[in-house]
Amino acid sequence: MKYDIVVIGAGIAGLTAAIYGKRAGKNVLVLESRTYGGQIVNTPSIENYPAAMGISGFEFATKIYEQAITLGAEIKFENVMSITDGKIKTVHTNQNDYQSPVVIIATGSKNRQLGLPNEEKLLGKGISYCATCDGAFFKNKVVAVIGGGNTAVEDALYLAGVAQKVYVIHRRNQFSAESVMVEQLQKQPNVEFIFDAQVTELIGEQKLSAININTNNQARIINIDGLFVAVGRVPENEKFANVVTLDQHGYIIAGENCETSAPGIFTAGDCRTKEIRQLVTAAGDGAVAANHAIQYLNQLNQD
Ligand code: NAP
Repeated sequence: MKYDIVVIGAGIAGLTAAIYGKRAGKNVLVLESRTYGGQIVNTPSIENYPAAMGISGFEFATKIYEQAITLGAEIKFENVMSITDGKIKTVHTNQNDYQSPVVIIATGSKNRQLGLPNEEKLLGKGISYCATCDGAFFKNKVVAVIGGGNTAVEDALYLAGVAQKVYVIHRRNQFSAESVMVEQLQKQPNVEFIFDAQVTELIGEQKLSAININTNNQARIINIDGLFVAVGRVPENEKFANVVTLDQHGYIIAGENCETSAPGIFTAGDCRTKEIRQLVTAAGDGAVAANHAIQYLNQLNQD
């Protein structure tokens, strides 16, 4: 099956690229292994995207998804396994092969794990990476959130409205989250902050029952029903390492023009090297990557 542009990833960057590609009259396929929207679908309320204040991440993503479909983008839920490079590239999924002169990689990132023994085993049995997905299971229970960024503070705020008590455990004594959210969290009566603390052990056999933390070189056991891990995100680009250059952390190396080391392969959003990973920069990247892709296609057609 042949397309002008194949976009890998139906997050905000990928869907925006599809919208720009379609508006330029190109034949666009978007491939997504999970659900559309990416990371933003877990955000209960968007507060920092111009003109979208207060709408949920899922609603926001749905609007962009519907916009891409209305414009004629084809979206298939298949898992991309690899790309074979060439003047015409082949994108191999778990179900099909797709050919196009241009590929835009917009695969975002996945949750970083704590890397502790028991973490995999207790996933879904007290450990979660998504407060809005799993918070309701912990109504009137005791939970902890690990991390100090926007996700951790947003998760803790959400959980404060559901759980009986929320511990927020951070390895520094200051949050990197936006101060407006931190101030809101500080006002919650059922939130206790534990700073300069590192989780060292996840305790529980069939389900999580407690965590061991190290704070000021002292061990402390905290009994909890649920643990929300919000310690950042890591890219998922290993499968593209044979066609584009990655940096030492696994991000696709690209500048503001979203061009990778491979002619005809562009990248957009959180999966590329960049300073600020936000909804608005993901959407911006989608537009930039699509425009450079369109220029590249038009040039190919002239040659
Ligand atoms: P993040 O900003 O990278 O923060 C990760 C946090 O986890 C940091 O506090 C970090 O501490 C801590 N951490 C990292 N590894 C750890 C470990 N092994 N053990 C304990 N703590 C660890 O990640 P994020 O909060 O998921 O945000 C990701 C991106 O999405 C950011 O750009 C963020 O702004 C954006 N985001 C935006 C919104 C919003 O605007 N509403 C909401 C959610 C996310 P150190 O500081 O010590 O490294």
